[in-house]
Amino acid sequence: MKSFVKIIAFVLATVMCISACIIPSFAEDVRVVDKSGFETDYPYIFVHGMGGWSPTNRFYEMSPYWGGGLWLSDNDLIKILNDQGIEAYAPAVGPLSSAWDRACELYAQLVGGTVDYGEAHSKAHGHDRFGFTYEPIMGESWNLKDKINLVGHSFGGATVRLLTSLLAFGNEDEINATGAETSGLFTGGHDCVHSCITLSAPHNGTQVSNMLYDLTGPYYIIVMLYNLIGTILGNDFIVFSLQMGHFGLTPKQDEKRAKFSFDSINNYYTAQDNCYYDMTLRGAAELNETIKLSENTYYYSYSTAATKTDCFGKQRIYSSVTPIFYISSLMLRISEGKSYDGVTIEDDWAVNDGIVPLKSAKYPLCDEATALSYSESIADGKTIESGRWYYMDTLVGTDHFDFCGTKDYPTSFEDFYFSMIETANAR
Ligand SMILES: [Zn+2]
Repeated sequence: MKSFVKIIAFVLATVMCISACIIPSFAEDVRVVDKSGFETDYPYIFVHGMGGWSPTNRFYEMSPYWGGGLWLSDNDLIKILNDQGIEAYAPAVGPLSSAWDRACELYAQLVGGTVDYGEAHSKAHGHDRFGFTYEPIMGESWNLKDKINLVGHSFGGATVRLLTSLLAFGNEDEINATGAETSGLFTGGHDCVHSCITLSAPHNGTQVSNMLYDLTGPYYIIVMLYNLIGTILGNDFIVFSLQMGHFGLTPKQDEKRAKFSFDSINNYYTAQDNCYYDMTLRGAAELNETIKLSENTYYYSYSTAATKTDCFGKQRIYSSVTPIFYISSLMLRISEGKSYDGVTIEDDWAVNDGIVPLKSAKYPLCDEATALSYSESIADGKTIESGRWYYMDTLVGTDHFDFCGTKDYPTSFEDFYFSMIETANAR
């Protein structure tokens, strides 16, 4: 009998030991947001990049931009954050529109109402002043007093930077054009963005845009294709809206189909009011001249790098990158040693994440004098200050799409975003 008891005790002890080893490892996998260091708890607004989509688009159900990237997935970051008690939203802005137009569309979705692209801007760029009408994405109209956090991936970075600047400083041309009727977006004086966070954003442009945009012929054909899509398929049959109704290229909100128009196609290109131009080196520099840092907003930039120096001394992209970047990375490789908009592509512009040079992703060059390394500032015991850029340590070996969830970095997709939120909410 004693032997039997000993055997049972041994088995139980063994099971307990195995459990002790296994159960904590499962527990460690279930990462939760650590709210112990939270000083703030404002909503997060995630803004997609060029060609991106959001939960309001049908394609998002098959492949969430924030979670799946281009791959089929049910890994939806917005749901994951909401389940963690983090208020998060992902509006849909024009996938191919300029930073200005996207900032106006983002503002309309935050406050609710009709997009006002501004009287002065719309006249100067030959498109409608007003666009789609939206319900407020946060449920209630944003009062421009309660703070929010803005997070922009890729070209979404320019969108959130411009929105932050317009809210804080307004726009003189628009105030002069419409006086007392000016949209709240352009009047300035709104200190309501707590943090402005960019992920692999081309703050200073990318030479890939220069190479593509300056190929005028092919570009016209692409814009013509957009107009044909809007003419033949409208907005109802495509997986996500191109949102070019204000240019007349795709349907307006009350239209089923757009009209095919060479004037609209020509104007879209010549107006230089689109994402392609804003991401050329000259377009980004022009944009940077108009965007000012808000003294009460915290700015953080995250960057990725997917290249290493090869035996020829050129940057070669890791074979594990998202295949869509094979062509753009080749274009970046070809660009080495050449000049674009007065910038010679040398070592510091050659390292890239497949499409955006590291030199561009860290901070806008116009803000270089005050930009600081976040990790070095923390290591030195310095206080993190608002009104200046803090660039995070570059995630080496990751590509431009990894922030969309194509790679579990560093330990899981959500782990990165939980860490990002813990950093932003710590002050
Ligand atoms: Zn515009």
